[in-house]
Amino acid sequence: MKLVEKHALTDALEFAVPSKVPTHWYNLTADFPEPMAPHLNPQTREELKPEEMHPLFSKALVEQEFSTERWIEIPQAVREVYASWRPSPLVRARRLEQALDTKVKIYYKYEGVSPAGSHKPNSAVAQAYFNALEGTKKLTTETGAGQWGASLAMACAMFGLECEVFQVRSSFDAKPYRRMQMEAYGGTCHPSPSTLTEAGRKILEQDPDTTGSLGMAISEAVEVALKSDRAHYALGSALNHVMLHQTVIGLEAIEQLREAGEEQADVVFGCAGGGSNLAGLSFPFLGENLRDGKTTRVVACEPQACPSMTQGEFRYDFGDVAGMTPLMKMYTLGHDFVPPSIHAGGLRYHGMSPMVSHAKALGLLDSIAVGEHETFAAGLEFARAEGIIPAPESTHAVAGALNYIKSGQARDGEVVVIGLSGNGLLDLPAYENELEKERQLKK
Ligand SMILES: *Cc1c(COP(=O)(O)O)cnc(C)c1O
Repeated sequence: MKLVEKHALTDALEFAVPSKVPTHWYNLTADFPEPMAPHLNPQTREELKPEEMHPLFSKALVEQEFSTERWIEIPQAVREVYASWRPSPLVRARRLEQALDTKVKIYYKYEGVSPAGSHKPNSAVAQAYFNALEGTKKLTTETGAGQWGASLAMACAMFGLECEVFQVRSSFDAKPYRRMQMEAYGGTCHPSPSTLTEAGRKILEQDPDTTGSLGMAISEAVEVALKSDRAHYALGSALNHVMLHQTVIGLEAIEQLREAGEEQADVVFGCAGGGSNLAGLSFPFLGENLRDGKTTRVVACEPQACPSMTQGEFRYDFGDVAGMTPLMKMYTLGHDFVPPSIHAGGLRYHGMSPMVSHAKALGLLDSIAVGEHETFAAGLEFARAEGIIPAPESTHAVAGALNYIKSGQARDGEVVVIGLSGNGLLDLPAYENELEKERQLKK
């Protein structure tokens, strides 16, 4: 705890943070041409009041959730942690361009350089910081493929908090390294649904062999936090404050493109589960479209197995299975939809961030759905050209971009930016199907 008091939480201390680490998060809410529909109280269906979120979230985070300010200052202690891997690289994918024999300029913004291996620490560090500052002792959360759980466990370790994670059963079984990663950071990880919560026991009664889902794991983590007066809950995506935290990605990318001599990005591809890495990369570009008349197109790439925006309805729905979260207006497949068990566990979410959903409903961004085989083929193509093995989630953005270029839709000289949200080094078994297919073909 000494570390927390003397080092991590003290904004007054001067740390040498490189000036290229953003100083503010960007809030697209300030630039939306029409306001978003408010979150609703699930019981009364009245507009949710900020204080109704206080049992679960830190006050600073709740303030961010409701904020309409365009710029929100990043605390110095958070910037100091960011500085150990930020700014993350924006790389011109020249070898991929060569392999595709294209005159399209392909860039990727690579979030896999974070210690946990994905973009998730951008919000995990902020959430752990604000909670520690307000005296929270423990954070509970859900995780799909395990990247969020691992990122939050890391952030909790940095700020002296306990961390308890409910991991979707199918991923818990398929990706044991993630549990080990969480435990290495000092966190605890249970497969969900579990017998530790009422929500979990109820689900198991109805379906003892369920693969689990993010919606179920959220119900469990929320229940544990609500029943404890020393714990808060942390959500890895979907909510407005998480979208804000991730905008460091796009703010850096705009600056880096400028340094590379590009006037603007023509098309940005990002994968979308709950929407946070897509929002993080694309919202600063959308802000420039709305304020400065730029024309960057944004394409959200979803799995065909869980196409919330491409095939869902835009309406109020719960964020979890048990109906404990506020009602949020979003694209949804229904809160009781259990997506098939695909490798990109981080994209198995029935809903979509209300901010990303609002942007889609206003026509500010497009969405497409990509098949699983196509995503891993694209991931291998990317790896063989650029060396990075993308996370199964990130391969959706790669597949979206490759398909756009290969089908001849892109002009020569067009600037395409791929959001590479994480690396796949702990998810290599997910590639095995595709590799086995290649082995068979060689025989
Ligand atoms: C969690 C995760 C995602 C999906 O979540 P979003 O909130 O939609 O970004 C995508 N990529 C990686 C690497 C992830 O860990």
